[in-house]
Amino acid sequence: MRIDLHSHSTISDGTDAPAALMAQASAAGLDVVALTDHDTFDGIDQAAAAASELGLGFVAGMEMSTEVHGHSIHLLMYGGDRGDRALSAELELIRTGRERRLPIMLERLAALNMPLGLADVEAFAEDAASVGRPHVADAMVAAGYVADRDEAFRLYIGDDGPAYADRYACPLEKALRLVTRAGGVPVIAHPWARKSRHDLPPAYVRRLAADHGLAGLEVDNPSMTDADRAELRALADELGLLATGGSDHHGAGKKGTYDLGSGLTSPEQYERLLARL
Ligand code: AMP
Ligand code: FE
Ligand code: FE
Ligand code: ZN
Repeated sequence: MRIDLHSHSTISDGTDAPAALMAQASAAGLDVVALTDHDTFDGIDQAAAAASELGLGFVAGMEMSTEVHGHSIHLLMYGGDRGDRALSAELELIRTGRERRLPIMLERLAALNMPLGLADVEAFAEDAASVGRPHVADAMVAAGYVADRDEAFRLYIGDDGPAYADRYACPLEKALRLVTRAGGVPVIAHPWARKSRHDLPPAYVRRLAADHGLAGLEVDNPSMTDADRAELRALADELGLLATGGSDHHGAGKKGTYDLGSGLTSPEQYERLLARL
């Protein structure tokens, strides 16, 4: 069984529409795939219908923008009530924050002699309920300012880049409360990737599991080192947390090793997840 529990469509910052993504997952030989767009469930119905036609196992998911001490932590949610009022309201707040930061980033790019209009960005986010920096990157590529998304992040819009602008994210403990109250299973995405180890030391992960309903850690994601995977797997074992895996596939937008199936969840861990859904 090949089970990939982390992927993005055009409903957030992936480059394949939900149905096309499911077709790709099936062609890639996956048995089960989860759609986990950033801060929205809008792609779930389309993806679920396509997966069902393809005979592909499907898990409804979402990747929520959260923070600890102002540093970004991504929280995956599996299953649960997608119509939950409190969760929906928080996701709406996060998406509004995504839109509000755009003009600021565009001002900074203009100051760097890379003028772009909001419409230029929106042209690449037509299907997206959740606009992100990758759409800004797409507009930069189209204008000839950079060669690809990766260069845009590396030189200008990455977290330390000159055109970066912060946005609202939900405090992690509040996000855990919202997800668990909605009946979802919360799993921290790519823990310790992107410098987040400092914000999620083992002692804090223990507390999140004991007191805040954390259910799992995404141990196998291409952005994680082998050493971190080994340590996190041991921590998950110790705490009885799920140890999941997923590719974090964004289609053509994210270069390197993020192909569908490049991060996998074991059948045993998948069974444990199903038991909680
Ligand atoms: P945002 O959600 O707007 O803060 O943008 C962050 C998103 O940008 C993440 O979800 C990643 O998928 C994407 N991203 C980060 N770094 C890169 C990169 N080097 N190339 C392409 N996409 C990236
Ligand atoms: Fe993304
Ligand atoms: Fe993520
Ligand atoms: Zn992701």
